[in-house]
Amino acid sequence: MQAMLPKIIDCNKFVSRGGVLHGILERGEFTRNKGLFSIENDVSVKLVFDLNQNGEVILDTDVSAAVSADCQRCLEIFEFEIRKSGEFAICESDDGSDEKLLLNEGRDIFYVNNGKLDVLRLIEDELLLAVPMIPRHEDMSSCSAMKHEPFDEGVSVVRKPFAGLRELIDTTDTD
Ligand SMILES: [Zn+2]
Repeated sequence: MQAMLPKIIDCNKFVSRGGVLHGILERGEFTRNKGLFSIENDVSVKLVFDLNQNGEVILDTDVSAAVSADCQRCLEIFEFEIRKSGEFAICESDDGSDEKLLLNEGRDIFYVNNGKLDVLRLIEDELLLAVPMIPRHEDMSSCSAMKHEPFDEGVSVVRKPFAGLRELIDTTDTD
């Protein structure tokens, strides 16, 4: 069993020794997914802290989770796996150091308060980004919307070769 991650960590501790942090966050801790998707299991997280040449703190994240949502094609609930990696520049809030970060690299910025990093909020952001705006069965054979369609098609495919002819005769008669 994996260790439970603290919801808030002091990233200065990890940065100084180039830290790696592995663990899980309880699915019940997440709130912003409510109404969008459900989290089926505890969320597995890996955080890797590093310092780059400019002395900036860089955080690599890996998140994986089993979630479920309503398929927007057939409206049935289905379960799927999320895997997302992210790369962040860690910045103290309100110290202005983010201005030069914005100029030099395209990384996302995540703000900390006196070195305290809100792990739960960061991972929640990642999950919200990873789940598609319009969740749908990827495997069409398991999507119920597809199972219903052959019936409709069957009806429209029935050929009535003389139906058009009858119409033609009717309209010419009224002339
Ligand atoms: Zn579906």
